[in-house]
Amino acid sequence: MQTFNFDPIGIVHSPYREKFGIPRQPGLVDVASTLELLSPYNRPEAVKGLEEFSHIWISFVFHALEQVKWRPTVRPPRLGGNSRVGVFASRSTHRPNPLGLSVVALEGIEIGQHGVCLRLGAADLLDGTPVLDIKPYIPYVDSIHDARGGFAPEAPPRLEVHFLPEVAQACRRLEGHYPGLERLIREVLAQDPRPAYQAGRNELREYGVALYDLNVRFRIVQGGVEVTGVEPAPR
Ligand code: SAM
Repeated sequence: MQTFNFDPIGIVHSPYREKFGIPRQPGLVDVASTLELLSPYNRPEAVKGLEEFSHIWISFVFHALEQVKWRPTVRPPRLGGNSRVGVFASRSTHRPNPLGLSVVALEGIEIGQHGVCLRLGAADLLDGTPVLDIKPYIPYVDSIHDARGGFAPEAPPRLEVHFLPEVAQACRRLEGHYPGLERLIREVLAQDPRPAYQAGRNELREYGVALYDLNVRFRIVQGGVEVTGVEPAPR
């Protein structure tokens, strides 16, 4: 059987520095990322007309998997991590070819001396993600009003997020450097980034999420999230 080699055409720059904490789909956390086109694809002609579209499809590689092993069935977080479905009935990162597909808002296109950058809204992509292709989202074909959503018929429930008073203060001080930081933390933690098997446990465990070069600590309290610390991530 023929094999294929693909060159990345671009690379993503996002606030998500680790897989843990990244929303599980695009459109859930409204934070800006950028997609920098790489040479020789970073030519203005290659994106001519793309600015007419509000959204794009991004095909990318799940490049940061610890192991690239795949299994015919997986346990989606939406099913609590207990029930199995076929890998092709899931959006799992662990698949025979580790390819991802996200529909993302296109906020703008910057063309400069150094090439072409697309400004993206609400992506679900790790910083450094290699992109294989971009296509415009075309509503009349891509939006199907009576489509069925299988085991994920609607967006997952969100958790309430509270900051310890001293952490809220620290966050406000950091806003100058990281505009929108408090809102970003709220949005990311409202998605409950814990592994599915941890959800539902009554635990005092503290977790850390890497956003920009910060470590955001939190724990789960009575169905909500308490943000317990925000500090520079250890290098
Ligand atoms: N929307 C895409 C799809 O359906 O193909 C991705 C869905 S996948 C469930 C989203 C998760 O992939 C994120 O929460 C993050 O943990 C992981 N992820 C994102 N970028 C990645 C990368 N470059 N390498 C490995 N994992 C990544």
